[in-house]
Amino acid sequence: MASSNARTPASTLPPGACSRCANPTNKKCSGCCNAPTYDEDSCNDTFYCSSACQTADWGQHKQTCKALQDRKSLHRAASLLQQTMFRIRHHASPTKSQSVRINGSQIYFQGDPAVDMPNGLHLAPFLLPLDTDRDVFNAILVFNGCMEAMAYLSSLTKNLLHRICSTIEEVYITIINPDLQIPRTFEDGQVLHVKKHGHNVYRATLKNGETWVIDPTGAQYWFKNPLRPWHSFEKQNLSEINDTYFLGHIRSEYFPRIPEVPVPAMLAQKAEKLELAAKMDSFTPSLVQFGSLLKGSNADFEEKERRFLQELEIHINKSLDELSAPGEIVRRNREVRLRRVQLLMDPSQQCQKEDLEHLSLSGKDIL
Ligand SMILES: [Zn+2]
Ligand SMILES: [Zn+2]
Repeated sequence: MASSNARTPASTLPPGACSRCANPTNKKCSGCCNAPTYDEDSCNDTFYCSSACQTADWGQHKQTCKALQDRKSLHRAASLLQQTMFRIRHHASPTKSQSVRINGSQIYFQGDPAVDMPNGLHLAPFLLPLDTDRDVFNAILVFNGCMEAMAYLSSLTKNLLHRICSTIEEVYITIINPDLQIPRTFEDGQVLHVKKHGHNVYRATLKNGETWVIDPTGAQYWFKNPLRPWHSFEKQNLSEINDTYFLGHIRSEYFPRIPEVPVPAMLAQKAEKLELAAKMDSFTPSLVQFGSLLKGSNADFEEKERRFLQELEIHINKSLDELSAPGEIVRRNREVRLRRVQLLMDPSQQCQKEDLEHLSLSGKDIL
């Protein structure tokens, strides 16, 4: 039986009772308040009537508090990764569609014309005029961007999460029940509806064993929150896990082998994406380096997030300027031509090449 001054377990207290003395209070432990919920039936909030009670209870609360703080950091990291992907796609979008039509909960891209080799970059600012709200804009912005996200974000993900996670994996999954559909409309007017969607996400396991999904491009399926407990994601939206990789794999191994399509524009775009991904590796603001970015009050974090995104935009623009220097374009075009010749001469690539050429020609290479 607990003695009278022993800590009352938080779960048995009515909301607003001090965890130490049970006096009514509305002050929460600032360390762990607002941590995201992992299990629906568990209550995260810990109340203290005074700093004296908080200090006296620290020995009891410490372990729970630190675990919840890690959850909070994870949520902030997921939000930064999502925002980073929005910013990259905003400045360096592969979208070539001319317009978008929105009909209820369906969004139709119209026209996806093949592009000739331009004089500048294939990746270009996202310019579709959208007279719509921010969430719809974001959904369209990151459409088909999940593999790019794995390529662009791997270093940043590692830097943000390695202190709080025991494992971070890249997972290639098939999702069901998206809340938003973006069918493709082709030039011949044909519409392609996809029932199951191949998708790439991170599976992050915190040091306390909780497993979460970080989904930087889930906005395209109307998964607006970039962080969810893996168990609820699994129950509601996961059809199957196709492959699980270590962090950085999709970019280093898988991404370069993806559509080896002998279409110069596509190869050039892929080369640009990989070079931009390499430049993203050097984006490590001092806030990330010293691990302070994800800490502090919500107001502190909002200010740090604002500075982070400001530095990020500068970095993206500088990187794109470097990629579009005339000498770089000449070099990349030469490498792309060489790569194309290698592919044409490599019999081991023949099967894949024909498949992908066919897909490309029919305009249905949905990744
Ligand atoms: Zn108290
Ligand atoms: Zn706490």
